[in-house]
Amino acid sequence: MHIAHSIDDLRKITTGWKQQGETIALVPTMGNLHSGHLQLVKAAREQHTKSVVSIFVNPLQFGPDEDFDSYPRTLSADAEAVADVGADLIFAPSVAEMYPDGQDTHVEVKLPYLANLLCGEHRPGHFDGVGTVVLKLFNIVQPHSAFFGEKDFQQLLLLKTISRQLNVPVDVQGVPTVRADDGLALSSRNQYLTAAERTIAPLLQTTLQTIATALAAGNRNYAELETAGIASLRKAGFEPDYIQVRDADTLAAPSDTTHHLRILAAARLGGARLIDNIGAARA
Ligand code: AMP
Repeated sequence: MHIAHSIDDLRKITTGWKQQGETIALVPTMGNLHSGHLQLVKAAREQHTKSVVSIFVNPLQFGPDEDFDSYPRTLSADAEAVADVGADLIFAPSVAEMYPDGQDTHVEVKLPYLANLLCGEHRPGHFDGVGTVVLKLFNIVQPHSAFFGEKDFQQLLLLKTISRQLNVPVDVQGVPTVRADDGLALSSRNQYLTAAERTIAPLLQTTLQTIATALAAGNRNYAELETAGIASLRKAGFEPDYIQVRDADTLAAPSDTTHHLRILAAARLGGARLIDNIGAARA
């Protein structure tokens, strides 16, 4: 598995591919890959002849008190996993390669509204950092499509919006969340959980399911459902940031014209901040 650490090296390879008529998929990640990430690679390979996995722990999207320094970096294991699922290339740049002029004076992509609600409210600047690095990766790799997980539903919507509003010729696609057998969404941050916390963690997903069941039965008292969900998470030892029922297309509060609902949650459990979301039908 070739690992390109520089933009020049990456470009030499992707330019050759384009001259040969290959179509390119990009799967952006922060590494420490699990089956959720690999599912994105599989989806990419179904549609394109070449796939690139980027591995970059992006300092721009971490707050000052967040886990940038301790985030697990496992490049050689990741390279093996990526080779096993048949991707063609890893792009693993250094921070200096991505931000040669420094981070403080770098252009930032800001998306009003969508970047500031839900997780954006609790992680100020996070989505500006995500939007900036992903737009850079799009410009560096120039893929035909890019694949992102629905696990980060707000991120997926934000990247689709950035792509659309800035006329970026990359088809942004979502892939359903991959879960452990007990329902917990796979995440690199699950390893911050103790064994005892890991047994409690699936309650995040079951809480969302309980709300989805109530919505499907015709309950439209969103605030009451959200409050009950928060209470049951607190009782189990979580510190919830939010549980919200939203319009799946806009992430606004549902209106009478809302077709698809999405229930989204974020909660701390011990040293991990877990997020999850599911779709829901409205009766
Ligand atoms: P990360 O390395 O956590 O930044 O994630 C890289 C990509 O993998 C993002 O598009 C995530 O949404 C996606 N991803 C992470 N976990 C999962 C999962 N359990 N199922 C599907 N996609 C995932």
